[in-house]
Parts: sequence; structure tokens; C-alpha cells
Amino acid sequence: ASDFSKRTQAVQPSATLAVSKQAKQMAAAGIDVINLGVGEPDFTTPKAISEAAIAAIKGGQTSFYTPVGGILPLREAIAEQTTKKTGQALSANQVTVTSGAKLSLYTILQVLLNPGDQVVMPEPYWVSYVEQVRLAGGVATTVKPKTAAMKLTPADLDDVAGPVKLIILNNPANPTGQVYSRAEVLALLDWADAHDSFLLSDEIYGQLVYNGQTFTSALVLKKIKNSRLIIVDGVSKSYSMTGWRIGWTIADEKIIAEMNKLLGHMTSNPAAVSQYAALAALTVDQKMVEDMRATFESRLNETYAKLIAIPGLSVAQKPEGAFYLFFKVDQDLLDKLGLKSTLDFATALLKQAHVAIPAGEGFGMPGYLRLSYAQDQETINEALDRIMAFVQ
Ligand code: PLP
Repeated sequence: ASDFSKRTQAVQPSATLAVSKQAKQMAAAGIDVINLGVGEPDFTTPKAISEAAIAAIKGGQTSFYTPVGGILPLREAIAEQTTKKTGQALSANQVTVTSGAKLSLYTILQVLLNPGDQVVMPEPYWVSYVEQVRLAGGVATTVKPKTAAMKLTPADLDDVAGPVKLIILNNPANPTGQVYSRAEVLALLDWADAHDSFLLSDEIYGQLVYNGQTFTSALVLKKIKNSRLIIVDGVSKSYSMTGWRIGWTIADEKIIAEMNKLLGHMTSNPAAVSQYAALAALTVDQKMVEDMRATFESRLNETYAKLIAIPGLSVAQKPEGAFYLFFKVDQDLLDKLGLKSTLDFATALLKQAHVAIPAGEGFGMPGYLRLSYAQDQETINEALDRIMAFVQ
């Protein structure tokens, strides 16, 4: 018998991390590996943000616990900025700040799910959703959307058997980069309302949309008070602040209070210094966000064009947001290379071409790989050259 709990033994190790780990081991052995597997922007955190954190340290904001859900000025800034963006009036007590958006998701699932409660999400999915649902005792039902863009629709939800406690929407989506239109978001909200389901909208990539595409937060379409809509967001992706670990939940006060009760026993509060950094991120000149977004946009356009020019690789629909390209590997190409699956493709690509890209298997969709363009273009181009040579 194992020393470990059945709970954690049931958790699957992350397939994306496995590729990353192998890549790091190869790099440590002196091999020139290009890692296009990461979900973190390659920019340094803007200076004004880091300086606010340094000022917080020098000002002594370090030797006490903050309120569980974060310092009031930060929660107010989040409420204010979100109100400005969505037109939905919000107050600080409808916000809780957590150590990264990932912990917001974890805590939401812990407070909402009872054993056997069903949570529905589209394939491909961000792998942590499934594991977190399991850890909370829920049942993760993943559905293959009928649309070419792999976006969830009410028709997909109609096919699910049994009551749906919660729907997880990731908009813009990791790994596909697809963005849901206003009408598509509304249709899902209506379905959730009609079935008394909660709708969790993970909008962590909300500021990263490209080529004129507009992002519609679910908040634009629905009030938070007394509702079953829950929003997750944070500074990790759009401000290049993954290492600071600041994310948040926006939800009805009662949900926030329940989350804070639990967080009080888990983290007590997110790191105080990071909270001051996040406060600066939301309140300083936002030009740096636009600059990073514009850089991602030009990378998307160049990388997409070059990727789909590689024989045997294709993308169902050009991404409109986030910073990933989820591309298909033709069966003919796999056969030609003598590979059984995209998992094998990813392993061979790493071993032979020294390019790390996680396989779709880790996202519930074999046959694909997920390339992250959160790398400078020169590095991406070198990786694409290596992939081209590898497939030929
Ligand atoms: N949600 C999605 C879809 C993500 O891709 C990520 C990060 O990879 C997160 C949430 C977690 O963000 P954070 O770094 O703030 O925990």
C-alpha cells in the first residue's frame, strides 16, 4: 500500500511539465534546446511594477499578514478597472485576491463541489481544470465541441447526461487561442441560467487578443450580485507577472466569503509585496500592456504563416488570443516518420531536433501539439527551421 492519499495518487502528472523537465535536463547537459512549451510571457515585468514592489519592501510592507482576500486598495483597483472595462458596477467585497489565478480556480472548485458533482468543459482543455475538479471530488466531463474552432456551444451542453453543476469556459482559450464572440458567451450564460448551473469564466488571457478581434467578458452580459457567474483573472499573462503569483476571483459576495474562509486556512493571504506590485500594474500607465500585446500579435502572424507552410502541419482556425498555436499533425506525416502518436512526435522532436513542444494528449486531444509563441521571434524562427528539417 502506498503512503500517499488516494486523493493525490489519483492526480495525473502534467504532460506539459514532463516535456519541460526533459528539455531542462537536456539544456543542463549542454544541449541547445528551444523550449516552446512554456505558458509564461518572455518579457521582464515592467519596471514601474517592480519598483512599486521594491518601495513596498523598503516601506516595511513585509512583516504582517494582509486581509485574507488581499489589501483593500488592490481589491478596489480590481473592482474599478473591471467596472471600467465591462460597465458592470463592482465593489471590493466581490473580489478575492489569490496566489495566482490557479489558486482562485482551485478554491472555487473546493467551495462549490460536492462528491460526484459534474463539471463540464470543452476539449482541448487546460489540464489543471480536470485535476482540480477531481481533487474537489467532482466529476470532470470533457466534451468535444462540434464547431471547427473547438468552442463550446449550448448544443454540446445539451448532449451531457445528468445535472451540470458548473461549466468552465476559458476565453480566450488555452490551448486553441480561440475567442468567444459576445453572442457565443451569451448563449452559454443563457444555458447555465436555464439549468441552474454555475458558469466559471477564466479570462486570464482577456487582454491578449489580436488582429482587431474584441474580447467580451461574461461580466458585460451578466450581473454578479446573487448570480452564478464567477470570473477568474489576474496579472500573470497580460502584465508578464507569472512569478509574482497574483490572480483573483470576482463573484457574488457570498461565494467570495466562503472562499476567504478556506483561503484563511491555506495561504492566509497572497504575498504582500506581490499585492503592491499588482496594485501598481493596475494603476500605472497601461501602455506597456499594449506594447506586449502588439508584440504577441506580430509573433502570432509571422509564426502562424510559417507553421502552416510546413508540410503535414495545420491549424483548424487561426488563433485570435492568448499566446498558443494548437496545430494538427497529419496521420500521413506520423506514418512517414514511423511515429505512433503525437506524444511520440513530441518526444522525437525534442530528442532529434531539440525543440520542446507539448503534445495534445496533455490537453485531452491527441493528434495535436501546442506551440507557445511567448519567445522572441528569432528563437521561434530557429525552432520552425528545426521542425521543418525534422518533418522532411
Ligand atoms: N488559467 C489558464 C487557462 C492558464 O493557462 C493559466 C496559466 O497557465 C492559469 C489559469 C493560471 O494563471 P496563474 O499563473 O495566475 O496561476
